Amino acid sequence: MLYPPEYGQDPLYPQAKDFKIEYKNHVVGSGMVTLKRFKKGEIIAKLAGDVVTSIRPHSFRISKKKHLNDKYFIGYFIHSCVPNTAINTKELIATALTDIEPGSYISIDYSATEDYLFRQFKCNCGNKKCRGVIAGKKETKRSGLSLMSYYEDDFC
Ligand SMILES: [Zn+2]
Repeated sequence: MLYPPEYGQDPLYPQAKDFKIEYKNHVVGSGMVTLKRFKKGEIIAKLAGDVVTSIRPHSFRISKKKHLNDKYFIGYFIHSCVPNTAINTKELIATALTDIEPGSYISIDYSATEDYLFRQFKCNCGNKKCRGVIAGKKETKRSGLSLMSYYEDDFC
């Protein structure tokens, strides 16, 4: 189990044998890699975390004023403008948007759940549909962002 015991037991919680954290590069840092194959539409895992009232580096919004802070699993999902995974913020479930092969990084669109991001950043996902600067749905994109300033302080 990737989650600490205080989150309780759920058979759908991510299992340590199915995932590993792997260093991707100096821009993205580390990401969550699946060791298991998922078919499009399949549930990847049920999600857990601490409910907080302000945005955190590893949180995602679950309601108007609440965020779920998951440092253990989702916190390592990398951003892609064409992600392979979606998060259902009501049921707290991650679902495969495409077939996902073992060895793939799990990616989500950071803008999908957030009106405002913890921090805007320049995307490096490499997709043809890459949006460049990634901001929340209600944010105005700032130009001239430096990657260094994004990665300067380490996220806890
Ligand atoms: Zn991108």
